Amino acid sequence: MAITLRASSTAAVVVYTAATATPNSLTAVVASDSDGARELVGDNDKVVVLAQATDIGGLLAAAESTVGLVSALVEAKHLISLIPTLRSAARQKNDGDKKTPALVIHVAVRAGKRDIGSVLAMRDSGCAILRSTSQQDAVDFALAASVSAQQTGVPVVHCFPASSSGFEFTAGYDSAVADEAAAAAAAGSVSEAIAQVLEKVCQSPAKLVSYAGAADASVVFVTFGDVLGRVDGMAGVGVVQVSLARPFDGEALRLAVPASATRVVALEQNGRGVEWGALFFDLALVAWEEHRRPILLDAANAGSVSASHLQAIAAHARTLDTAQCFDAGTGQEEEDLEEGLEEVDEGESLGAYGPLLRDVFGARLRVANASGCASVWGAGGRASSRPEFGFGRLAAAAQERTQLAEAVTGVLRDVAVPLPRELHAALATWLGGRDDPGVASVEQGALIEALIAEIKELDPKLEEVSRRSAHFPAYSRWLVGGDAWASDIGGSGVHHVLSSGGLLGAKMLVLDSGEYSGGPRKKDIGLYAMNYGSAYVASVAVYASYAQVLQALAEADAFPGPAVVVAHLPRTASPIAALQQSKRAVDSGAWPLYRWDPRRTQDPFQLDSEELRRHVADFLRRDAALVGLAAPRVGAAVAAPSVEAKAGAVLRARGDVSALLSGVAGPPLLVLFASDGGSGEEAARRVARGGRRRGMRVRCVAMDAFDADELGFEPTVVVVASTAGQGEIPAAGREFLRALLSTSANLSQTGFAVFGLGDSHYWPRAEDAVFFNKPARDIDRRLAELGARRIAGPGLGDDQDADGWQAAFGAFDAALWQALSLDVTGAEEEAEAPRRTDEENKAASNFLRGTIAASVADAATADVGEWDGKLLKFHGTYMQDDRDVRADRLARGEEKAFSFMIRVRLPGGVATPAQWLAMDALADEHGNASLKITTRQTFQLHGVLKRNLRASMRAINRALMDTIAACGDVNRNVVASANPQQAHLQPEVARLAADISAHLLPATSAYHEIWLADELVAGSAEQTLPEAEPLYGPAYLPRKYKIAIAIPPENDVDVFAYDLGYIAILGDSQQQQQQQILGYNVVIGGGMGMTHNNKATYPRLASCLGYVPKDRAVAVAEKVMLVQRDHGDRADRKHARLKYTVDDHGMAWWREQVEERLGFAFEPARPYAFARNGDRYGWTKSTPGLNNFTMFIQNGRVSDLPGSPLKSALASVARVHTGNFRLTCNGHLIVADVRDEDVGAMTRLLASHRLDNLDYSALRLHSMACVALPTCGLAMAESERYLPRLIDLLDKIIDSAGLRSDAIVIRMTGCPNGCARPYNAEIAFVGKAPGAYNLYLGGSHNGDRLNKIYRETVTEDQILELLAPIIKQYALERIDDSEHFGDFVIRKGIVKQTREGKDFHET
Ligand code: SF4
Repeated sequence: MAITLRASSTAAVVVYTAATATPNSLTAVVASDSDGARELVGDNDKVVVLAQATDIGGLLAAAESTVGLVSALVEAKHLISLIPTLRSAARQKNDGDKKTPALVIHVAVRAGKRDIGSVLAMRDSGCAILRSTSQQDAVDFALAASVSAQQTGVPVVHCFPASSSGFEFTAGYDSAVADEAAAAAAAGSVSEAIAQVLEKVCQSPAKLVSYAGAADASVVFVTFGDVLGRVDGMAGVGVVQVSLARPFDGEALRLAVPASATRVVALEQNGRGVEWGALFFDLALVAWEEHRRPILLDAANAGSVSASHLQAIAAHARTLDTAQCFDAGTGQEEEDLEEGLEEVDEGESLGAYGPLLRDVFGARLRVANASGCASVWGAGGRASSRPEFGFGRLAAAAQERTQLAEAVTGVLRDVAVPLPRELHAALATWLGGRDDPGVASVEQGALIEALIAEIKELDPKLEEVSRRSAHFPAYSRWLVGGDAWASDIGGSGVHHVLSSGGLLGAKMLVLDSGEYSGGPRKKDIGLYAMNYGSAYVASVAVYASYAQVLQALAEADAFPGPAVVVAHLPRTASPIAALQQSKRAVDSGAWPLYRWDPRRTQDPFQLDSEELRRHVADFLRRDAALVGLAAPRVGAAVAAPSVEAKAGAVLRARGDVSALLSGVAGPPLLVLFASDGGSGEEAARRVARGGRRRGMRVRCVAMDAFDADELGFEPTVVVVASTAGQGEIPAAGREFLRALLSTSANLSQTGFAVFGLGDSHYWPRAEDAVFFNKPARDIDRRLAELGARRIAGPGLGDDQDADGWQAAFGAFDAALWQALSLDVTGAEEEAEAPRRTDEENKAASNFLRGTIAASVADAATADVGEWDGKLLKFHGTYMQDDRDVRADRLARGEEKAFSFMIRVRLPGGVATPAQWLAMDALADEHGNASLKITTRQTFQLHGVLKRNLRASMRAINRALMDTIAACGDVNRNVVASANPQQAHLQPEVARLAADISAHLLPATSAYHEIWLADELVAGSAEQTLPEAEPLYGPAYLPRKYKIAIAIPPENDVDVFAYDLGYIAILGDSQQQQQQQILGYNVVIGGGMGMTHNNKATYPRLASCLGYVPKDRAVAVAEKVMLVQRDHGDRADRKHARLKYTVDDHGMAWWREQVEERLGFAFEPARPYAFARNGDRYGWTKSTPGLNNFTMFIQNGRVSDLPGSPLKSALASVARVHTGNFRLTCNGHLIVADVRDEDVGAMTRLLASHRLDNLDYSALRLHSMACVALPTCGLAMAESERYLPRLIDLLDKIIDSAGLRSDAIVIRMTGCPNGCARPYNAEIAFVGKAPGAYNLYLGGSHNGDRLNKIYRETVTEDQILELLAPIIKQYALERIDDSEHFGDFVIRKGIVKQTREGKDFHET
C-alpha cells in the first residue's frame, strides 16, 4: 500500500474512492490534481475530479456499497461549504448506515497562511479534525485517518503542512501492516483508533497532545499549529501542541500543561480580526484544578510565529492579569518576507520562470518581495507581494550597500586599521568594481566576509564592515509579481520602481497569464514602462522562445537602471496546454515578443516575434510598392511589354471578365466546409467547381468564416463536414456549429445539402456507431429543425469504401444537381481534369526541380504548394504547419503557420563536434531552438521558415553535411549500429553506410542548383537539361527505400524494420584477436507504416535472402533497389513499399531477381543471435586508448527547458570534445572516442550538466516516441510531448511491481505511419485521435517479432487500468528474470503471437 502526499498551491477538488475490504483500501491520498492522484495504486480504485467541493456529498450518496473509503483533497477555503456534507455523513454512520463510505478530507495548509482558521471553523461539524506537522507524520496520520474513518464511521478532516514549493512523500505499508492497523483500531473511539494506529503500526513518536519547552514554564502556549521547536531554550515558556482538535481531549491537555503555568495562551491562527477563537473556548472547558487555575489568554491572528515573536507574545501575556483576547500581530508576514529575500519560490507561483531565473543568475539571485504567495494571480492583497514593498526592501539593500562602500573606504584609508595584505587587495578590488557581478561575486563576497570575521575585533571600523558584509555580492535583485500588477498599473506602485532611475537598478518580472482569447491583452505594463524612456523593457514567453527569455533576463540584469520583463505564463497545470496557449498568443500577435533597450541609439526596439516581423516586413514592402505606384513611371517605356505579351494579356483579361460576368449573373451557391486533413476541403471545392460550371455564383469558405445567423439570406447552401476525433467537428467548424445550435434564425427560405466524411470503423464498438459522420448528421438535423429545406443528402462518405469518401460523394453530387435541376449533361466531364499523381509529378519534375526555386523565392506566401512540397522531400525537407495554432489561424482566415522540417543525411549517425555545433547554432538561428535526434540516426531541424530555407541548407553544407535524399522516394539515410560494445567494428559499418548512401544518391544536380549555387539556374518545369538518373530513372522509386546495418548481438538499429537490412556475420580472423565482420545476412521487406482500419496495409519484418561476403554489400543494395524500382506498385502508394512487393511475389522470386542482376547467388544464411534492440548506456571502452559514453536523451529531443538546459549543455561538451558524436537509432547520443587522458575531465563535465544521469527506470531508458504534434502534419495524437508523462504514471506501477530495473521496450507514435517503430515494441501506443491510442503488446525484446493489437482507442485512464494488472502478473509469474515482457504476454495468451506481417491484424 502506498500513501502519497502531494501539496501544492493549486489544489483541485480531487476525490479518491477505494474499493472496500481489501488492505489496499486503506490507501490515503492527498494529491494536487487528478494527474497526481492517478499515480496511486489500487486496481479498483478511482479518482474523480469534482467541479466543487460540495459535490462530494453527491458522490457519497451515489457511491455503491463496493466503495469503502472516499478520500478527498480540497482547498481550505472550500471546507466551510463541506460542513453540511460532513454533518450528514457523520449522522448516517451514527445511524448505522452501512452503505455510506468512510470519508476522509485532506487539506494542505500553509504555515502562516491561517488556513487553520478554516479548519477549526469545522469544529462543530461532527467530524474528527487531525493535524500533522511533518512529512512523516502526515503519512502516518493519513493512514490513521483512513483506518479511523473506516472503523468508527466518523469522517476525518486531516490537514497537513504544505510548503510553498509543495512536497511529495511516499511511504509504503505492506498488506500485513494495513491489516494490523485495521485490527489495532477495531474498537474504541476516534482518538483511541488514531492513537492505536500511530503507536502500534506506525511506531510514530507523534502524540495527539505533546508538550515542549521549559519544565517550569510560567507561560504556556496551546496551538493546533507547529511551534514545538521554536520555544527551545526559551526561559519560562512552553508549548502544548494539539494534533487532534476534534474530539478534543481536555484531560490530556490539562495533564500536559506544567503546574507552574500561570498564563495559558491559545495561539489562534484565525486571521479574522481580534476575536475569541476556537482554541480558547476549548481551553475554557478544561477542568483546571482549583489550586492551579491559570489565566487564560487568546492570541488572535497568531499565524505561524517565529521564536522572537513568541517571546514577545509571552512577555505581553505576563503583563495581563485577566482572561482576554489580544492581537498577536503579523509574525507571518515577516517570516515569508525573509524567505522571499533569500530565495526564489520555485513553486507554482513562478511556474517555468523560477528554475529559469535560477539558471541565469544562480546564487546571485535575490527576490525582494514575498513572491511565495499561494499564487501570483491572487497575491495582490498582501502587502509584502506589492512592488512598493519590494521597492522598500531594495532601497534598504541599496542604502546598506552604499554604507558598506563608505565603511570599506574608511577602512582602506585609515592606515591605523590592521589590514592583512590579502584582505586589503580584496577590499580595494571590490570597491572599484562592486557593481560588476564578475568582481563582486557571491564567492568573492563570502571570502571577504570570512577574512574580516577573523579580525573584526581589532578595530571598530572592521566591525562596521563586518556587520554589513552580507552586501558584498552584486546580487541580481528582482521584484516578482503577477496579473494584479499588470491590471492595475497605476495603483500597484510600479511607477515608483520605474521612476527610481539608476539609483536602485530594480528589476521587475511581471508574470501575466495573458488570458488569451483572441482579444487585446489587458493593460500594457510594457508600454507603460517604455513611456518612462529610461527603463529596459522586454516582453517574453518561455513556452514560445526560451532563448529570448534568457537574453531578456540577462540584458535586464546588465542594464544600469530599472528593468521590466513582462512574462507570459498561462494559467494551466498542463505543460502541453501552456505551450499551446503561449504559441497561440505569440502567433496571433496578442502577446508580442520584444526587447526595448533605450541605450541603443539605433533600433532600440527589437521585435522578436517571427510572425509579427514577417507581417511588419510585408506591410513595409506593400507600403513601398504603393509609394512606387504613386510615383511617376520613369522606367515604364524601358519596361514596355512586347506586342505578343500585350495580346496575351488582353485575351486573358477578356476571359477573366467573361468569367466574372457569368459568375455575377448566376444564382448564388454557398459552400461551407470544415476539414482537418484536406479531403473535406477537396470535396467542398468539387461542389464549388460543379456550381460554377453550371453558371452559379459560388462562394466556398471555411465554416467558421461564416456567421450562422446569416444563413437565412442564402437560398442554397451546401455544407461539407469532416469528422475529427470522437465524432467532433474539425476545429475550423467549431464556432459555426456552436452558433448553429444556438441560433433561432428562420431558414425557411434556404435550401441545403450536407455531405460528411467519416470512417464507419474508426471506433470499433457497436455503440460507437453514433460517432460516424456525427458533425454532418448534426448539421443536417439542425438545419432541418430551423426550417431549411433539404435539397439532397445527407451524403455520408466512408473511408471504409473501396473508393473512400468519393464513393458516396458521386451519388450526393448527382442528387444535388438533379434536385437543383442543374444536372447538365457533360458538365462533370468538362471540369474534372484528372488529378496529377505522385508518379507524374516526379516524372515531370525535370529531375526534382519542379518549380521549387520559384516557390521558395515567392515572398507572398509561406506555402510552396502541394506539388513542389512533394518534390522538396527529395531535397531533405518537408513543409509542415504548427498544429497548435492551425485552428486559430483558419478561424481568422489566415494561412496556416507553415514552416519546414529539415532532415540531414548522416550515414551511420556519425557527426563531428564541429557539425554538432553547426546544427546547434542553426537551430537557434533558423529553427525552433531545438534539435531532434531522429529514430533514423540523424538530425532534424523544425520550424524553419521558407525565407530561411536556403540559408539553412547552405549552412548544413558548409558544415560538410547535406540533406540530399533524406526524404522522398529514394534511398534514405543509411543507418548502422552505434552500439559501443563492439566499437572496433563500428568504423567499418559506418563506412559501409556511407558507401551505400553515396552509391545510391540521386544523380541530379537540382539540389546544388537550387540550394547552393549563387545564382539560380533552374526553377521551371518546362526547362530541360541533358541529365539522367542512371539508377533511378526520371520517376525515381515507387516509395522510400530504407537500409540498416546491425552487428549482433545488438539490434539497436531494428534491422528487420527496413526495406533492406544487413546483419553482420562475425568470425575470427587469423591476423586479428578480435572478431571481424566476414559478410552479411541480407534481409528485405521490412517496414512499419500502415493505415488505421485498412487491413491491406500492415507492418512487416524483413525476411532473409541469404548471406553475401562483405565486399558484395554495396552491389546488393543497388540490385535490390532496382528490382523494387521495376516491380514496385506505382499505382497505389499505400501498396508501394518494398514489403508489399515481397509479399506479392514471394522470397524465391525475389532471390532469383536479385541474383540475376548480381550475377552470383546468395549463400545460405549464417547463424547469428540478437539479444536486444535498446541502447547500452554509460561508459564503455572502445578501441585501445578511446572510450565512449552513451547518454539518455528523452525521445531524442535536444532543447533548453527551464531547469534542464540540455541543448546548451551538449554544446559545451561539443566545444571541448576531441572525438565524435554518434547518434543512435533509439534517439540517444554517444560521446564517442574520448581519449583515456580526457575521460576524467569529460566525466566531470557530463556530471556538471547532469548529462550522466542514467537513474531512470529501465522502462524509460527503453522508450521512444516520434515527433507528432505540433509539427507533424499526419499526427492524430500527441507522442513526443506525451510519452514522458505516461511513463511517469507507468513508473509507479513498475516500481510497485519491483520491475524498475527490468527493461521493457515501449514506444509511441502519433499516427500509424510508425516512425518510432512501434510495431515491434513490447508495449506500443499508436495515436488514433487526441488522447486516444491503440495499444499493442507482444513485440520481442530484440525486435524480431511484431506485436499485436490488445485494445483499440484507449485513453490514459484505460491504459493504466489495462497495463497495471498485466505488469503485476508479469512480475509474479514470469518464468525467470530472462523472460521478457513481450514473450510473457504471448505465453500467457494475453495476445496472440504475430508470425508475419500478413497476420498482424488477426486477433
Ligand atoms: S509516426 Fe505519424 S505522427 Fe509520428 S512523426 Fe511519423 S508521421 Fe508523424
